[in-house]
Amino acid sequence: MGLHEQQGPHERYGLTRLINARGPFTPAGVSRSDERVGRAVAEALAGFFVMEELHELADRTLARATGAEAGTVVHCTSSAITLSVAAAMTGESTARIAALPDTGGLPARVVLPAGHAVDYGHPLVQDIRLAGATPVLSGTDSACTLDELEKDLAHPGTACLVLVSSRLTRGARVPLAEAVAAAHRRGVPAVIDGAAQDFRIGELLGTGADLVLVSGQKYLGGPTAGLVLGRAEAVRAVRAQGRGIGRAMKASKESIVGTLAALEARQDLDVSAWARRQEEKVARFSARAAALPGLTAHPVPDPAGLPFPRAALHVDVARAGLDARALADALSSGDPRIWVYTDRQYEGELTLELVPLTDEETEAVLRRTAEVLAEHAPGGLGDRAGQHT
Ligand SMILES: *Cc1c(COP(=O)(O)O)cnc(C)c1O
Repeated sequence: MGLHEQQGPHERYGLTRLINARGPFTPAGVSRSDERVGRAVAEALAGFFVMEELHELADRTLARATGAEAGTVVHCTSSAITLSVAAAMTGESTARIAALPDTGGLPARVVLPAGHAVDYGHPLVQDIRLAGATPVLSGTDSACTLDELEKDLAHPGTACLVLVSSRLTRGARVPLAEAVAAAHRRGVPAVIDGAAQDFRIGELLGTGADLVLVSGQKYLGGPTAGLVLGRAEAVRAVRAQGRGIGRAMKASKESIVGTLAALEARQDLDVSAWARRQEEKVARFSARAAALPGLTAHPVPDPAGLPFPRAALHVDVARAGLDARALADALSSGDPRIWVYTDRQYEGELTLELVPLTDEETEAVLRRTAEVLAEHAPGGLGDRAGQHT
């Protein structure tokens, strides 16, 4: 292999090197695809396809792989939310599909628990509004009862219920199956955004939701794609949006072929053996991090039920000489940058997801953390006050 082939885009264009311990984070490029996916994408890019045939192959494969009645691929999960809402309003009516985002005469209220109106880089309610619909927040940020939900669902002109399964939701947990049942009692279809929940597709379909939406590029490790799974009629109505607003949200040939390869890789994966490896990796990392001065560390389970833990680091300011926020800042300003979950930094906690990290990368994270702690240790080299005593 020549020098040129060995150079990746980081070297070629002088791009910032990044260790991503923050999960399938879109500003970090989301995930790593394996070689099988990379090869499939490259092959797809080099060829022509009867796109209708490719779509139908993907639809059949998705249904078979997930146990859903039907499935289809769109550009991403964000667009899958917009297109599911559109489908709930128009069905397969050509005239209604062509009229969107004008929803005159259509049911256009979309109910969701207030705590499910998450911001994953933009507000989820904007995905709803993009179809021409009007989001209706049920309950409050801290709680939404089934009674509150049912009252909002009973309103005439309600197109669908949207629920979110994610670590980002706020407030008391809304039981998904019960919420879906409440919608169905009112004759309203239910959609679950489970973008990062590809390991839990069976469980989410088991709630009885009409549509379950997951990202092809998060833990599945495919190219950017939105997988739409669920009842055949609802999935057909999503696919039909391709003749309307869905044109701007289409799946490309390479994303479809790459998604097929990622699904095959997932089917070949022994998930429980994989989960055990993740546990070992996080346990080893936590033990070594806990040995650093000023830190305690332990594995924490995923709040939504994904089958792997993360490592939580607690920073003891008195012993470390800096707080969690300053540690996160220091990690993200080195070379390579190291990004961690900072949503609990003001409670003194940083969380690291190790799933895609190589051994070299976890070593680099430990090494850099130790360096930052050594620079700030009270009485240590970097501590001015300490030098004067
Ligand atoms: C990532 C995410 C999305 C958006 O997924 P894309 O495939 O990037 O469009 C939607 N909802 C939630 C909860 C997410 O975490």
